[in-house]
Amino acid sequence: MDKDFPLTGFSSAAVHAGHETDPRYAHLVPIYASSTYVYDTAEQGMRRFSGEEPGYIYSRWGNPTITEAEEKIAALEVFALDIEVKGILHASGMAAIASLMLGTLKPGDKIITHYSLYGGTEELIHKVLPDLGITAVITDLRKLDEVDDIIKKDGAIKMMYLETPANPTMQCVDLEELSVIAKRHQLLVACDNTFATPYLQQPFKYDIDFIIHSTTKFLNGHGTAIGGILLGRDIELMNNKMTKTHRLLGGNANPFDTFLLINGIKTLELRMERHCHNATEVADYLVQYQQVSKVNYAGLSSHPDHYTAMKQMRHAGAMLSFELKGGLQAGIDFMNKLKMCVRTVSLGTCDTLLSHPASMTHYGVPKEQREQYGISDGLIRMNVGIENVQDIIADLDQALIS
Ligand code: PLP
Repeated sequence: MDKDFPLTGFSSAAVHAGHETDPRYAHLVPIYASSTYVYDTAEQGMRRFSGEEPGYIYSRWGNPTITEAEEKIAALEVFALDIEVKGILHASGMAAIASLMLGTLKPGDKIITHYSLYGGTEELIHKVLPDLGITAVITDLRKLDEVDDIIKKDGAIKMMYLETPANPTMQCVDLEELSVIAKRHQLLVACDNTFATPYLQQPFKYDIDFIIHSTTKFLNGHGTAIGGILLGRDIELMNNKMTKTHRLLGGNANPFDTFLLINGIKTLELRMERHCHNATEVADYLVQYQQVSKVNYAGLSSHPDHYTAMKQMRHAGAMLSFELKGGLQAGIDFMNKLKMCVRTVSLGTCDTLLSHPASMTHYGVPKEQREQYGISDGLIRMNVGIENVQDIIADLDQALIS
């Protein structure tokens, strides 16, 4: 594509951004399965190592297939915004989060964050970072005055870490308001944008410093590979400290998985439109169902964070959860009766996935602790897929009735 051609639609950027014409005229970016790169002369090697001449050196440091994905995702996160950002692709979402924390925080620093975090992030914050002298203050980030007060009183807080919408109740926090508070106190702000994707929500619009994705989910879109990305708007920081951290921790992506990711991203807009349409219909169906006591979907006007979600998201996303009246056994029975929808964890795939946290991901977590996080015995989490929505509803219907 001619680099000067202005791409006016998100889908056009999802298809074309980051793509360079291949020197051998392959239509798609090849999978550069090479660990290292050669030099015409020793002098050229010297120029590459000194940074005088651009070029690849070693695949843990960079790889052409990986560059295409980094540039594509960066272009989508700032689509139609006048901002430049840099992305660094990682082996997983957790590797991207670890690079973020280890590249920006030092012993004595604190992170302010909320209860509803992805379980792996929460474990990193509570079980790994404290040994390095980095601790967390957990609060309800929807109570803005309290957040401001906590930060004012605790000079060790250096980063605000957000995830919105978040598991399992689809809690949303206000990116704009929280970013204003964080900047008032010179904090770095990071947002996990995995559930929303750049098509539904662009945190960089609100002066957020870093975005993280588990690309394993909606960006890949088909459940074919694990991956993650860290994006940042301080280009100097990204090119130096964060690049160094990524290279030395060794959480680099691999070109095979990245090839799958690139091709998945191309259909992001189409998939998210369908995911969100289906999720809205499923939520509307579930609220009317008498065996369901509660539906958590940010698109419903009854959801406590509906206003916040609609302020910053194009649609409310593909994820929802609901509570069955009969508790643990009702949850197990319901899961066992599904005929088309898939019993599994994870999310972001074309097929509808359901999980029952009390008997699966949170089986070992004491009931009182689970309930603090909104995980009741009968809670079912759902990634609403892109199948015909009537088939999804028919499967739920037969599993709820019989
Ligand atoms: N962030 C969110 C919101 C997630 O759901 C996940 C995984 O489920 C992660 C981060 C971690 O990503 P990965 O499994 O790719 O390491």
